[in-house]
Amino acid sequence: MPKLESLAFDNGFARLPEIFYSRVCPTPVPDPYLVCHSPQALALLDLDDSEIARPELIRTLAGNQSLPGMDALAALYAGHQFGHYVPQLGDGRAILLGEVKNAAGEGWEVQLKGAGRTPYSRGGDGRAVLRSSIREFLCSEAMHALGIPTTRALAIVGSDHPVYREEVETAALVTRLAPSFVRFGSFEVFYYRNQVEPIRQLADYVIARYYPELAARAEPHAELLREIARRTAELMAQWQAVGFSHGVMNTDNMSILGLTLDYGPFGFLDAFDPGFVCNHSDSGGRYAFDQQPDVAAWNLTKLAQTLVPLLSVETASAAIGDYPRQFGQAYLARMAEKFGLAAGEGLLPILTDALQLLAQNRVDYTIFLRRLCDFDSSPGAVNPPLRDLFLDRAAFDAWAARYAAALRQQGSVDAERGQAMRRVNPKYILRNHLAEVAIRRAVDERDYSEVNRLHALLSRPHDEQPECEAYAAEPPDWAKQIEVSCSS
Ligand code: AMP
Ligand code: MG
Repeated sequence: MPKLESLAFDNGFARLPEIFYSRVCPTPVPDPYLVCHSPQALALLDLDDSEIARPELIRTLAGNQSLPGMDALAALYAGHQFGHYVPQLGDGRAILLGEVKNAAGEGWEVQLKGAGRTPYSRGGDGRAVLRSSIREFLCSEAMHALGIPTTRALAIVGSDHPVYREEVETAALVTRLAPSFVRFGSFEVFYYRNQVEPIRQLADYVIARYYPELAARAEPHAELLREIARRTAELMAQWQAVGFSHGVMNTDNMSILGLTLDYGPFGFLDAFDPGFVCNHSDSGGRYAFDQQPDVAAWNLTKLAQTLVPLLSVETASAAIGDYPRQFGQAYLARMAEKFGLAAGEGLLPILTDALQLLAQNRVDYTIFLRRLCDFDSSPGAVNPPLRDLFLDRAAFDAWAARYAAALRQQGSVDAERGQAMRRVNPKYILRNHLAEVAIRRAVDERDYSEVNRLHALLSRPHDEQPECEAYAAEPPDWAKQIEVSCSS
């Protein structure tokens, strides 16, 4: 495995004209130390795991040292935030160091989040605190392990440099990896400035780099929209199926590759609650759990609008017109798998009635689905562990009888179905209280063992890990007091 010195940089984004970014170097932090790292993410850069012990790598991930071939920059973008257009955002605290080409031929952009001020910092300090960095690190890697498209997190480096939020906290930098960090907002900024040429350049760049198969089509820009809509539909289906709430679905947080991007006040459902709002600052519930697929559709219209100067209104809207159907189909397919049912006529009522029952009885979504893997479909079976989750036992029994009948009708074999279901119904998710315990240890005691334990646990979310049974339990009462809100 190559060492740090042999990383091959090939900075595609930096070859675009300078209208798309500002060259800026990270601001060093005093005495950086490693908090945690992801060996799997390190391997994406072909780096041997032992490299993480090298001070040169820590200095690089702290922004204190640059490597030959890097070309650091902050990208320009705008975006609709909570429905309102904000003409200038941009990487206010993230700095793209460069893009590494690995031996498999993949390009991975390496970005430091919390690397200091940039021309887009507005009033901000360009920093991120350890608390929010731990949440981003753990969730990115957990989402990847769940099979959900996401930016990756390679490491967290901390420093005692003070960062002023509601209280004084300490600085940290998350090293993020993605093939591209281009967002819907990267297009919007030029549309609202009436600059058509940069829109064309960016669209052509995105096609050439990430959707090369579209270049030869009759209308590549329309095809690009269509493909982004398709990936977004797939992503929303995955979020809804796993019970993930992003919290800040502004267009500047929407990836043109259909990746989960920018982890802030996200939350996984505990008790099933369609109206769940994870972001404490989202008082109107704009980004409530059950709104996410529609918000993505709205965001896609904002993206499509930016390409109207290159297409036509009709072509652009037709290109995203399939989104509702694509989302519906993808979501239903995921849910059918999770319930171990074949797609078909009877599926939808069984699913919707189950979700309604879960909501009425405030049953834990993840625990329900995991126990459902052990469902006994024989006539008259009671399924006590599952049944015990419901206050309204009679309603559960009625539903379970219909579910059992559907399974028998489909010739489903309990043991086989259970095995397949356990591969799509995780036992372990990053519940807020689990992250909170790891954060408290890290922040208060400089003890990162819990961050590492959670990272390891969540890298195999579908496997039984008997020593970690407690991590699969419902949240304790104190978890209700945890509040998470925007950028920290
Ligand atoms: P977010 O809510 O993290 O997606 O951030 C929205 C915008 O605010 C982006 O342009 C960020 O770069 C910027 N931003 C957030 N926090 C900071 C900060 N501490 N310093 C500078 N810019 C920030
Ligand atoms: Mg953002």
